[in-house]
Amino acid sequence: MTISQADANVCTVSTLTTEKPEIGNAVESSVIYLPGTDCVIKSQASLSAYTSYRVGGAAQWYTAPRNLTALQAGLKYAKERDIPVTVVGAGSNLLVSDRGLPGLVIATRHLRYSYFDPETGQLTVAAGESIPSLAWQAADLGWEGLEWAVGIPGTVGGAVVMNAGAHSSCTAEMLVSAQVLSPDGTLETVTAADLNYSYRTSKLQGSDRIVTQATFQLRPGADPAKVFAATKQHKQHRLSTQPYNFPSCGSVFRNPKPHSAGWLIEQTGLKGFQIGGAQVAQLHANFIVNRGGAKASDIFCLIRHIQHQVQDRWSILLEPEVKMLGEFQAACG
Ligand SMILES: Cc1cc2nc3c(=O)[nH]c(=O)nc-3n(C[C@H](O)[C@H](O)[C@H](O)COP(=O)(O)OP(=O)(O)OC[C@H]3O[C@@H](n4cnc5c(N)ncnc54)[C@H](O)[C@@H]3O)c2cc1C
Repeated sequence: MTISQADANVCTVSTLTTEKPEIGNAVESSVIYLPGTDCVIKSQASLSAYTSYRVGGAAQWYTAPRNLTALQAGLKYAKERDIPVTVVGAGSNLLVSDRGLPGLVIATRHLRYSYFDPETGQLTVAAGESIPSLAWQAADLGWEGLEWAVGIPGTVGGAVVMNAGAHSSCTAEMLVSAQVLSPDGTLETVTAADLNYSYRTSKLQGSDRIVTQATFQLRPGADPAKVFAATKQHKQHRLSTQPYNFPSCGSVFRNPKPHSAGWLIEQTGLKGFQIGGAQVAQLHANFIVNRGGAKASDIFCLIRHIQHQVQDRWSILLEPEVKMLGEFQAACG
């Protein structure tokens, strides 16, 4: 049985082939069956479809497992072929090189389940669940604690790794524990204390462990209308202060306290500055938006330009919050 590219997001059986395409070569795309599972791996899968920036080249191999068994099989597949593994969630904090990525990209966005435990007030969710969707579900139930997260368009896995936060709250404050998978296939439960959380960082960044599940402590028993109103207010505030109408990764730089990165960039006169299709947003200077047809290299060079300009003016080197994956040209002209 063969499977079309359109069907390849759905983890179903396809033809088994041993073809191994080379990164950067114009080889024909193929879809293969991940041994021992009903999940497929695509070759030469364009990552622009899987990132909020809508830019980036192809993954040599790409898979989006729907359960732990398929995820473990993906890791085994990569290990047996000695190819690198890159883990992504919803791709909302990523800048992927135009040259693509070697090895296997594993997206955890299709790992899905959630359980709101009324006894404990804890929410246990798979890594691929959408953060905004959970915030709305909690609001519907009258559970407080996730109102702040409604505007963060990522997954649970990405939030745990990034310590995603907004409106003076963050993931670390809510997290009870996370289940993580090591490359050798073993599962471990870690607590928030184990993860060395601080501003937008955790011990999991740069590690080879994959978040498969997380448990958050919420506060049940509130009036759903009240929680819904607070959630909606956060969402509306975001829509009025941040450019959600163009592809972006949210804030590009960490805030170098006591200043905000957006303020420094705006004061440097860079609002609206554009390289190719990448532009410093008019609405919020810490956002770089894809105005259409941007390449990853446009965004990368705009990041470098902002860093140089802000450093010249303020002697502060802005540190990117966005995760850059793959190779980027050092010279931006
Ligand atoms: C419009 C917009 C607004 C945003 N606003 C905010 C905001 O207010 N606050 C904020 O903190 N962020 C914000 N972001 C950034 C982004 O949504 C968050 O960083 C989010 O937590 C990333 O989640 P993700 O699933 O998209 O992860 P990805 O972007 O796919 O990955 C981010 C990092 O996490 C790793 N990762 C992802 N999933 C896993 C996993 N299961 N196991 C191991 N590693 C994993 C990746 O390797 C990568 O290093 C915004 C982005 C956009 C586009």
